[in-house]
Parts: sequence; structure tokens; C-alpha cells
Amino acid sequence: MDGAGRHTEPLPGEEAGSATAPVALQADLAEEMRAADTDELLSWVEQARVEVERPLQLELAVARTTVERASSHRDEERLVLQGLQRQLAKAEPWWRPGSRRRRADLQARIAARQQLLASLGERVRHAEEQVSQLRQASQAAVEVWAAQQRRVLDRAVAAVQELQRREPGLLDGRPADPVGPRERVPPAALAVDEATSHRDRSHDRSARSDRAQGGEGDHGQLATPQVAPGPLGRAPQQQGPGAAVNVDSPIAIVGGSITGPVLYLLLRQAGFRNVHIYEATPRAVPQAGGVIGLDHTSLGVLDTIGVPQPEIVPFPSQRVVSIKVADRHEPGRVQTLYPGRNTTWTLAHDALLERLPAGVLQTGARVVGLAPDADGRAALQFQGADRAAADLVAFADGRKSTGRKLLDPDRPLHYAGYVAHRGQLDDCPPELRDFWRYEPGGTQFTLFPIRQPNGGIGTDWTFYLDASPEQFRAHFGADPTTRTFVLPHQVSDDARAYVDAMAATLLTPNAADLVHRTSRRMAVPVLDIAPPTRMVYPIGSSRALLLGDALAPVRPHTARGANNGIDQAAALVSALAQHRDDGVDLDVALSTWQERCLPMVIESLDRGPELGRALGLGLEV
Ligand SMILES: Cc1cc2nc3c(=O)[nH]c(=O)nc-3n(C[C@H](O)[C@H](O)[C@H](O)COP(=O)(O)OP(=O)(O)OC[C@H]3O[C@@H](n4cnc5c(N)ncnc54)[C@H](O)[C@@H]3O)c2cc1C
Repeated sequence: MDGAGRHTEPLPGEEAGSATAPVALQADLAEEMRAADTDELLSWVEQARVEVERPLQLELAVARTTVERASSHRDEERLVLQGLQRQLAKAEPWWRPGSRRRRADLQARIAARQQLLASLGERVRHAEEQVSQLRQASQAAVEVWAAQQRRVLDRAVAAVQELQRREPGLLDGRPADPVGPRERVPPAALAVDEATSHRDRSHDRSARSDRAQGGEGDHGQLATPQVAPGPLGRAPQQQGPGAAVNVDSPIAIVGGSITGPVLYLLLRQAGFRNVHIYEATPRAVPQAGGVIGLDHTSLGVLDTIGVPQPEIVPFPSQRVVSIKVADRHEPGRVQTLYPGRNTTWTLAHDALLERLPAGVLQTGARVVGLAPDADGRAALQFQGADRAAADLVAFADGRKSTGRKLLDPDRPLHYAGYVAHRGQLDDCPPELRDFWRYEPGGTQFTLFPIRQPNGGIGTDWTFYLDASPEQFRAHFGADPTTRTFVLPHQVSDDARAYVDAMAATLLTPNAADLVHRTSRRMAVPVLDIAPPTRMVYPIGSSRALLLGDALAPVRPHTARGANNGIDQAAALVSALAQHRDDGVDLDVALSTWQERCLPMVIESLDRGPELGRALGLGLEV
């Protein structure tokens, strides 16, 4: 299509190398197309041919020219002033005849030039300010423009597909328009057909579930027959029977780290028995943080699914010791209490995985796409050719979430200009049993004891240091929004040397010594993301959800990431139980869940940058 090929540069918000972006056709777009008449479809294709200027580019060019003109005028006047000053310096002493007048004249001209220069300087400053404001405004406007352009192009591609689909039914040389209402069907209208009894739906879903499982009835088979072969234009002819979830409905959880397994165990406890977890890596690795503070609510949730606190909390201190550092010395310590306990990603993850029934967790299953299948149900597409259909798809696939890219593609990750360098040491200072937080200006160094696999006590530390994107690339071999976790083998010698040098400069000698002696290092770039406005997306008759870091990764200082994921999982299962047991409409239950969870996420997203600023962390990037 003409219009589709006209952008040679990536649009803002598009991440390079995203293998998943083109795969899914959003269900609401497919519905919009099916409901549209032919003229509308043709006008959408036409719209994509019209070249729309990037906003504010002309204004920006004009403002830049004003700066250039004002600057060159100022520079000329400065030269004139310098000439006058030289003349004054060379002029005869004032007492020589005729000289007094000439000097007075030169002085007056110098004063006038100085005044002019001051006002020209002011004009240049003002014009530069305008350029900078316009640049910011244009950045924001270009993002909106790019999103609109993407939408126009997506709609045009979908319209072409829909026109092709209608071609067989040509009516007087024109494709036949659909019968029935033309409005886009809002998510609520996809809800359960009130005439269908709960029992009937349950039966219907069980039958579909057997089909989806290939009739084998055991754990998550990836291959699902009868799904649409392509992402575009193959949407179901009719809307499915409406959204409903019962104990036998297939539920897919994407991501087997913390949020995913917690959700699984809560669902199983609530009686949902057809739930599967799909994890991309052969075995989940501790990417997302060593020591994790869990608040009492999260610990309570884990307790209810049979993970008691003593199993995951070997060091039960609630104390946080803040250590001020000045010139590598400690002027004093302040103690506060954390309303929770510290565990580690490994302890929590292992405890959760041990409780998963065999076969529930499919490892090496990387989800790359999502689209409604032939009967309207969401089908996950995996790397390779496998697919799996589900009535509910919960994306708990972390900070670089494929689910987020598919469902909410306009919220890319932004690098915050600093890195959490992490290390794990095989020994531990005997006095370290609380959470210690060293705070020299412009950085933070935290440490906590960890239980070693051999029963010994080690130390886990995190050292936050500013780094430009170029520095990050030089240290870790990729962009911070691409390499969102740096695994031990990806930490370069230069990065180690840099962290050692910063420890020697900023920390007390004992703390710096811990860093120097640490051979196992990792790193996590600190990232921000725009606040989410929704967590629930209709995909045909199914619903797809974003949870945990997949919804919004928050800065580590907030200690909210894992807590938010657990909280959202628990609230989701309550909402689903209300739908199943009390007949609450699924979309009502899910939107109530969303409304409950979003404020906490938004607050965590706001708080992260505040905490970073208070610590003096973060470069302008
Ligand atoms: C330094 C640091 C300190 C932290 N401290 C705390 C703290 O004190 N308290 C707290 O609550 N939180 C803390 N966090 C945050 C916490 O670690 C994360 O929020 C939490 O791990 C998120 O869990 P998750 O399961 O949602 O996502 P993740 O742990 O990121 O897991 C996502 C999983 O999905 C898998 N996956 C990804 N893509 C796909 C795909 N396409 N298909 C299938 N599977 C996929 C991944 O392999 C991974 O296993 C900290 C984080 C850091 C970096």
C-alpha cells in the first residue's frame, strides 16, 4: 500500500527489533472493520495516502532562525563595542586639547552599545527559551502525531484486509456492506449473553477447552487447531458467545517468575483447574532483583497459597539502617522500620515453583503474538509455530512485556539515566542482619544478608550509579531499554572497574571492600514508563490482562514491583470468583479490578522519580 511505506524513520514509541509488533490485530480494530460500510473502508485507505506534516516543525524552524539572527546581530554589536573600547584606550588623555570632548563622545557611544548588547542578549535568551519550549512541545506533539499516524496506517491495513475479505460477495461491482449495527462493539457489549445460563456456558466452554487441548486433557499443549492463520483480516466472522470464565475455562498465564506463579496458585486455590503458565526461558533466571522487600499484605497472600514466611525469609529483621556518608566516613546512622520482610527473588521463585503441579509450567514457550482464533477466542502464538487458545490471558511477562507491546504499544520504556549495579558475595559481615542503606550524595548503596545454597550466609548489594546511555552501552553491550537485565556474563571488565572505582571514591572503606571482593555481578538499568490507563483488553470473546511488571515496571527504590504484582493477582482472583460464584458480569468484575489496582501503580510510578531525585540520581537522557 502506498501510504504504508512512506515512513523511513521509526516513529517515536516504536522499539527497534520488536519481532512481535506486527503480529496481532487488535480485536477492537477487527470489529470496527467488520461493522464499517464500504465507503468508510475506502475512505480509511484514502486517509493513509495523505501526507500529514509532523506538527510544530515550521514554528520550530522560525524560532531557530530568530535565535540565529538575534545572535549574529549581538555578535556584530559586540565587535563594534570592542572597536569603540579600543579607540577609547588609544585616545589622548582628557587634559589634552580637544580630547575631553572626543572621550566623552566615545564613552557615550560605548554606554549605548552596552545597553543595546544587554537587550540583544535578552532577546537571544528569550528566543532560545522559545526554541527549547517548542522543542519539548513538538516532541510531545510528534508522539501524539506518530500514534495517530500508526492508528491511520493500522486502520488502512485492516480496511484493505476487510475489503479483500468482502470481495467474494461483490454486489454490482462493490463489496457488500455488512448487515446489522455499524457501531463498534464496546467491551461491555461483549459480555455474557444474559439468556445463556451459567451451566450452559460452562458446558460450552468445557467442550471448547477439550478442543483447545487437542482432546488430550492433560497439561498445556501449545498446538491449538482451528486458529486464524494470519494476524490480519482473518478475524472471526461473528463475535463469540460472550465473555465468561468458569472453573474449566482455559486460562493462560504468560511469565513464570513471581506474579505468574502467584496468580496460578491463587487461581488453583479458588477452584480454577485449567490454568497453564508459559515461560519464555528454559528456566526462569533471577533477572529482576536479588533482595526483594515484601510487605505484610503480600506475605499474607503467599501464606494463603501455602508459602509460609519462614521458608522465604531467613533473616526476619524489619529494620532499615540509613547510613549517611561524608568524605567516605559515617557521621551517623538512623533506624526506621519497613512494614514487611526481605526475601530474595530466588527463594520466593523456588518456593512458588515447588508448589506448581507437574506440567503446569511450560518453559521455553516464548509468546510472540495474540489474535482471535476462528471461534473468536484469544490464541497465543509462540515462537515456532505453536498456538494455544484461552478465555483469559494474563500477561505477567515482566518489564519488556510482549503483552504490553501487543496490547498497549504506545507505552515504551524510558531509561532514567542510572543503573542498579548488583553483586552477591559469598560471605557477610557478622554485624549485617538488617537492611543497610548507605547514602553518600548522588548515589545509594544497599545491602542485606542472603542464605547461600550451601547454608552459609552471603551478602547481596545494590549500588545505584548515574550512567549516560552511551556509558551503559559501553559497559553492557546494548541499549538500556533493550538489555533490561544485565546477566553476569554480560558485565564487562570496564563496568566492574568503574563500579570498583566509584565504590572507592564514594563509600566507606568497609563498604568499598565488599564491592571489590564481589565476583558475581549483575546490573539493571532503571526505567520509567507512562502510567497505564487500563489493564483489561478484549480479544474476541476472550479477555487479555496486564499484571505486575508487564503492566508497569516501577523503580526499585519504591520496593513496590513484586508487591504490586502479588496484590493485582490476589485482587484478580477475587474478581473472577465474584464473576463465577455471584454472576457478576465478567467485564464489570474486571473493570472493578482495574479501578482498584491502577491508583497504586500510578502512585508507585510517580514516587519512583521523586525518590531518585531526592537521592540525586539520574542523568537527563
Ligand atoms: C534492584 C531491584 C530491587 C527490587 N526490589 C524490590 C522490592 O524490594 N520489593 C518489590 O516488591 N519489588 C522489587 N523489585 C521489583 C521486582 O523484582 C519485580 O517487580 C518483580 O520481579 C516483577 O515480577 P513479574 O513476575 O511481574 O515479572 P518478572 O520477574 O520480570 O518476570 C517476567 C517473566 O516473564 C518471562 N517472559 C518475558 N517475556 C515472555 C514471553 N514473551 N513469553 C513468555 N514468557 C516471557 C520472563 O522470562 C520472566 O520469567 C526490585 C527490582 C530490582 C531490579
